[in-house]
Amino acid sequence: MRTSTTRSTERTSVNLKQLPDQGEQFQFNQGSGELNRHLVDLIGSHAYNIDVTIRPQGNVYEITGRIDTEMDRICSHCGRDTHLPIHDEFSELIVVMTERPRAGHSGHTGSLLEGPSCNYITGHEFDLAEFVHEHIALAEPPHPQCGRSDCDEIFKLANRGIKIPIDFNPLLRDNGSSKKES
Ligand SMILES: [Zn+2]
Repeated sequence: MRTSTTRSTERTSVNLKQLPDQGEQFQFNQGSGELNRHLVDLIGSHAYNIDVTIRPQGNVYEITGRIDTEMDRICSHCGRDTHLPIHDEFSELIVVMTERPRAGHSGHTGSLLEGPSCNYITGHEFDLAEFVHEHIALAEPPHPQCGRSDCDEIFKLANRGIKIPIDFNPLLRDNGSSKKES
């Protein structure tokens, strides 16, 4: 059943065949809300700004843009809660496969050594929510560090087997976090 919808809200996939020759820009943020439920597992309730442009280039499509957001993670050095800024810029290609690949779903391949990453899809519907989700997941550093001034100090002490009771750390008291158990 088709209800009358305007094309902006809740629209997270793009029909590539319908793109104008000069391409189209898509912007998402927490206020517009289209991607909130798609990203909550990665960024919780943090704000985000996502800017994506898709442009036809012959038989392929160029997808460029940037993602700015934050995530809550645990510092890999001192173990405290920390906000990690995520700033991801991308310039990739979307390739529509005319033949169905073995696995039958979109894949994301490519390496820095082989030119731009390619997103292979089997139809002309491109899922921006999935694309953005994957980019944020990939942008997450494997060993996040909080950057607090005493982070290295705590790390060194911890490496020498000295435990810092986190309640006694004065820097934590104005952190707003009341987590005291571990
Ligand atoms: Zn730290």
